[in-house]
Amino acid sequence: MFESLTERLTQAFRKLRAPGRLTPAEVQSGIREIRQALLAADVHYGVVRDLLARVEERAVGEKVVESLAPAEQLLAIVRGEMKAAMGGEASKLRLSGRPAVVLLVGPAGSGKTTTAGKLARHLVRKGRKPLLVCADPQRPAAAEQLSTVAARLGVAFAAEVEDPVTGVGQSAERARKELLDVLIVDTPGAPPGVSPPLFVAELVATLGPSDVLLVLDAMVGQEAVRMAEAFLPLGVTGLVLTKLDGDARGGAALSLPSRLGKPVLFVGVGEKPDDLEPFDPGRMADRILGFGDLTGLAEKLAEVGGEEVAATAARVKEGTFTLEDFLTQIEAMSRAGPLDQLLAKIPGLGKVAQDEGVAEELTRTRAIIQSMTVEERRDPHIIGASRKRRIARGSGTTVQAVNQLLSQYEQARRLVRGFGKRRMPPGWGGPAPVTR
Ligand code: GDP
Ligand code: MG
Repeated sequence: MFESLTERLTQAFRKLRAPGRLTPAEVQSGIREIRQALLAADVHYGVVRDLLARVEERAVGEKVVESLAPAEQLLAIVRGEMKAAMGGEASKLRLSGRPAVVLLVGPAGSGKTTTAGKLARHLVRKGRKPLLVCADPQRPAAAEQLSTVAARLGVAFAAEVEDPVTGVGQSAERARKELLDVLIVDTPGAPPGVSPPLFVAELVATLGPSDVLLVLDAMVGQEAVRMAEAFLPLGVTGLVLTKLDGDARGGAALSLPSRLGKPVLFVGVGEKPDDLEPFDPGRMADRILGFGDLTGLAEKLAEVGGEEVAATAARVKEGTFTLEDFLTQIEAMSRAGPLDQLLAKIPGLGKVAQDEGVAEELTRTRAIIQSMTVEERRDPHIIGASRKRRIARGSGTTVQAVNQLLSQYEQARRLVRGFGKRRMPPGWGGPAPVTR
């Protein structure tokens, strides 16, 4: 996700990281490079202009040129303005009404049906009882697609193909009777530039959905704005951006919230039911800037790993984690799904994770920690030369490998602690990233 943008921005900031102060000209040239990186990422020029105007203003106001850590300070300003450009605070589904009605609208192929399934899964996790409704009178295949998804998730399903307006009303009745509390209504898309079928507006008027989500494909970039126009009159309350997994540029995520004046509620990051993430502008800014997404990782691990991992995750966030926590996390990770996806969320590891051998590396790390005593795991400082030899022997590795792990652990801990103090992420010239 956003690899090319992140790389360019990282380079721009690395150049700024000369020792000592920066001249106004250097700050200007840094801002110019950020501008180029954003434009190359297909961020709308108006959004880029406004964002950097605020960055410049703050850079002057906060006296970046006089600062002893100018690159860090500029980075923090850029992060803040990126977050603001993406809507500031995270927005949530409203889900009011009995049942609450969530209507999914958007161009053909944007990912509405897939998102309907993902949302159902998300809501079930939150203790809700959704009813997936297909309102598509034209394509029987659409009902089939959604019913397959519903069956796989074990979620209630209804297809309203004859008269969608009356039909969905009846589904709402059914939901009330069966104590299902959210109706997720999937609608047919329209080709680009064409208005959605009239009955979709009728659905809005009769059902009064609390959430009308416009589903847009992030891969189409700025074009999405034009595609969105036909749907905005439906009273869109929020956006879902799909296919971010394939989006190296990031233009849509950065531009659409301000261009359309709507918050992004979720992003789709793959084709599977679990590949949906609540959108958080601050975290997204971190990811774009290469900080990784430790919070997201911790949450994901907590989801699959239960209480033990949740406690670990909390310590990771605070930077007080031990090697024992490391081990718990590695074990949960191997249960949590594709390793590369998870590793991409650790600052500095995204690229490394793409290389082969990361899984083996983790297996080795696990073996090393398993060869330590509990005291050693909790307080690695007690590990001297002879303990290192014992651990290396026990894990079938070398003293060098043990040393490497210990220093990585130390770095990771310092890094996480530094977050709150606006430390530079790895690769920015700060402490070396956690690599092999
Ligand atoms: P609809 O016409 O709007 O209902 O779109 P669909 O839900 O049928 O999705 C169209 C295609 O996009 C399908 O092949 C989906 O698997 C794919 N798709 C949807 N969301 C995502 C996503 O977040 N990531 C990826 N990689 N593919 C997606
Ligand atoms: Mg569909």
